Amino acid sequence: MQKLAVIKIGGNIIDDAEKLNSFLADFAAVEGYKILVHGGGKIATTIGEKLSIRSEYINGRRVTDSATLELVTMVYGGLINKNIVSGLQWRGCNAIGLTGADGNMMCARKREVKEVDYGYVGDITSDGINVNGFQRLLEAGFVPVVAPITYDGQGNLLNTNADTIAQEIAKAMAATMQVQLIYCFEKKGLLADVNDDDSVITGMDTEVYQQLKAAKVISGGMIPKVDNAFEAIRNKVSTVAIGHADDLHELIKGEAGTQIK
Ligand code: ADP
Repeated sequence: MQKLAVIKIGGNIIDDAEKLNSFLADFAAVEGYKILVHGGGKIATTIGEKLSIRSEYINGRRVTDSATLELVTMVYGGLINKNIVSGLQWRGCNAIGLTGADGNMMCARKREVKEVDYGYVGDITSDGINVNGFQRLLEAGFVPVVAPITYDGQGNLLNTNADTIAQEIAKAMAATMQVQLIYCFEKKGLLADVNDDDSVITGMDTEVYQQLKAAKVISGGMIPKVDNAFEAIRNKVSTVAIGHADDLHELIKGEAGTQIK
């Protein structure tokens, strides 16, 4: 079976030009088939302010109204995606930037409104990842760089969580390839104490996870990340690791960060 690394890079790294450049150099050096998924970061908020687009937040999450959807499409699908693609091209990596609409790569459905209406937010459909499309791009020598924007196949773009996109791509590709999923962010892994960078929990199974969640050791953006990690490992993804962007090569070798079991 062919090997594939699906690597997700978090917002805090994207926001810092120096950290991003150093990560892109490491990513360009990863051998074999690879796909990069990127998050959003704070750039959308900064540019939104310049354009007088103020997004509403509910429970700490941005509500994607129509103006915010335009903003994130421009910033995630445009500015951030193209910066990453050009940075990788500069390093000899033949990157090609994609949203879900490009090449029909990721189809989603607008989330049904329950208690909270998060607006134009999409959940990838069960057969929404275009496995054949990704495979053909990889075989042609391209390195897909995926922005967290999907579409519904009927002309509407949707905002989709990048951690979930990485998990869905990894899961779908695992049908035909041996897939590794790596979440890179600005901490060395899942920490037992968020304020202590040396408190990395090196291995985590569901039992440990439930204990940590109950003890509120894991909070905020970390909860969906770990939920996605477990969803991937339950669905034929070979290895899932969470760790620092600086440790990409060690994470791939299973020698750093939190390895999900
Ligand atoms: P990303 O950078 O990938 O977009 P998020 O910002 O959504 O990720 O989530 C990562 C954040 O989760 C970290 O910056 C950290 O502040 C927070 N966090 C909460 N609990 C933990 C924990 N136990 N270990 C590490 N980080 C944690």
